[in-house]
Amino acid sequence: MTNNKRGVAHPYSILKTVTISKTPTGKYYASLLFDTKQEEPEVVISGKVIGIDLGIKDFAVTNNGEKSSKYNNPKHLAKHEKNLVRKQKKLARCVKDSNSRLKAKRLVARVYERISNARQDFLHKLSRKIVNDNQVVVIENLNVKGMVRNRKLAKAISDVGWGMFTNFLDYKLKEKGGKLLEIDRWFPSSKTCSSCLYQMNEMPLDVREWTCPSCGTHHDRDENAAKNIRAEGIRQLSVLGTRTAASGGDVRPKGGRKSVLRQSPIEVKQLQGS
Ligand SMILES: [Zn+2]
Repeated sequence: MTNNKRGVAHPYSILKTVTISKTPTGKYYASLLFDTKQEEPEVVISGKVIGIDLGIKDFAVTNNGEKSSKYNNPKHLAKHEKNLVRKQKKLARCVKDSNSRLKAKRLVARVYERISNARQDFLHKLSRKIVNDNQVVVIENLNVKGMVRNRKLAKAISDVGWGMFTNFLDYKLKEKGGKLLEIDRWFPSSKTCSSCLYQMNEMPLDVREWTCPSCGTHHDRDENAAKNIRAEGIRQLSVLGTRTAASGGDVRPKGGRKSVLRQSPIEVKQLQGS
């Protein structure tokens, strides 16, 4: 058993289950479930707070109270996609039950696997960076399932992997005693001016920049949303019994209140077999 991304198994951990699976490309995986007998660190919410607006044009736009950052979807994913379309067309032309069809099918599966690996790599690196730099991460609860029902958005959403990203942030934060705060998806993060809180009646998806009619601030749509998401997170934390420092927006706990967290951490470790 070797090191993986989440470190070597704890010397006193107990192996609970081993699950062997085979991918469509013929790779074998062993999933090992360990009980590490280690308790999660207590959640501490003093420290930096970042707001994240997830999108399709940019994967994520963040604001930490000082600056905004944009993270594009990696370009190589689009390249893989062209390759996938080409191989799927080839597969469609193959005669049913033929050897060439089997071969074409395996080639398609291999591209899928490459896309999935590249996406996970991107999501792991970005979530790691954000968790290293912040103690509280505020994100919109996207109800991805509900949105995927909208077929037009479905492909783009499943491609960008918002759900997976949220999970990665969640377990990485738990490991360090940080907090993922999900705010209501109906919170008007896009149409509220982050400077004066004026609320626009509507904000169509194609409007990328706008000027607040009340205070005249010119906004980048996603940066403004990230600022609002962060501010709403800080507001909710303060309602929960914490107090917010005016400068920098750092949040400090008032008492020993324990936060309610989303779900248990991912304990299954995937190691590649033969
Ligand atoms: Zn304004």
